[in-house]
Amino acid sequence: MNPKKNIVHLPVYQPGKPIEEVKRELGLKEVIKLASNENPFGSSEQAKLAIQNELANISIYPDGGSVQLTAAIAEYLQVAPNQVIFGAGSDEVILMLARAYLSPGDETIMADETFPQYKHNAEIEGATIIEVPLKDGTHDLPAILAKVTDRTKIIWICNPNNPTGTINRQDELAKFISEVPKHVLIALDEAYYEYVTDEAYPDSLALLRENNNVIVLRTFSKIYGLASLRIGYGVGHPDVIRSVNQVREPFNTTRFAQAAALASIKDLEFLNNCRERNAEGRIYLAEQLDRLGLSHFEAHGNFVMFDAKIPSQQAFDGLLRRGIISRARWQYYPTYIRITVGSQEQNEAFIKALEEVLAEAAVLG
Ligand SMILES: *Cc1c(COP(=O)(O)O)cnc(C)c1O
Repeated sequence: MNPKKNIVHLPVYQPGKPIEEVKRELGLKEVIKLASNENPFGSSEQAKLAIQNELANISIYPDGGSVQLTAAIAEYLQVAPNQVIFGAGSDEVILMLARAYLSPGDETIMADETFPQYKHNAEIEGATIIEVPLKDGTHDLPAILAKVTDRTKIIWICNPNNPTGTINRQDELAKFISEVPKHVLIALDEAYYEYVTDEAYPDSLALLRENNNVIVLRTFSKIYGLASLRIGYGVGHPDVIRSVNQVREPFNTTRFAQAAALASIKDLEFLNNCRERNAEGRIYLAEQLDRLGLSHFEAHGNFVMFDAKIPSQQAFDGLLRRGIISRARWQYYPTYIRITVGSQEQNEAFIKALEEVLAEAAVLG
């Protein structure tokens, strides 16, 4: 038996190490996972209640079209219900976009250090991948525009970019979108949208109203703290949403995910509290990294990427031995670490561990 030629070389996704495994392996009592940009404050109590209320219906298939949730999000975002599609995480929306739009011979453009799922799904579809180097850790929009051809089908813009955390601003993004030919779909991945506090951050829904070839991707996994339930969504022109719906599995989101998401968008207190505490944590981490003389990208999400000035594997291992799980091994940033903004207590524990790792590295030379 031979699988498709274009998947043979694909790596199997390596998740951040689970906390329990790290505790066991290293004999640690306390382990803090700052590897996957999960919400350190958990999720809304309303969401947990909504899940409990759904337990009685566990034997019944979910509403495949997520009708109630779609109506609620459409109202929340002031768009029409036929402009919204849900996926098992925005990961699945990315998968469905690739499935609906990319064929062998098509071209798709993305940054060279960005969220890996764009490339992964494009490769499965056999599309040609065009990677454009980041400029100062940010999507280089003019360079991306220069790569567009008649065969280009999707451009992926991750904003804030994962892993660097940088943003493309309203004016440059609006100009870019106006210059991209209309046969190209522009996917704006805003997984960290709710965390951004910078006023120059694009109003992507306004851009979408003026441009039929834009789809905005958001998720309940990050600020809403529902990562384990797998639910995210896309907002775009009804024609685009219909195409994505044509490749969607009939029951791709669960009852629990739908109910929790519905409750979560109503709990603005939880949302605002998380945003504020994250912004404080971001400032704290930036100040501490500055104090340690470590350069870092301007962070706009709930994570910070910094230059540890030692091989990232060494920094990762040192942090791990002190009970901090981080993310390392970036192709183009061999000495960089990405760390999720945790609670204040977690952030302080991380900085303490980092100082020890740097001191140890200095002694070792
Ligand atoms: C986390 C993340 C997602 C997907 O998250 P889901 O859990 O699948 O909703 C998408 N894009 C980026 C940039 C992310 O960081």
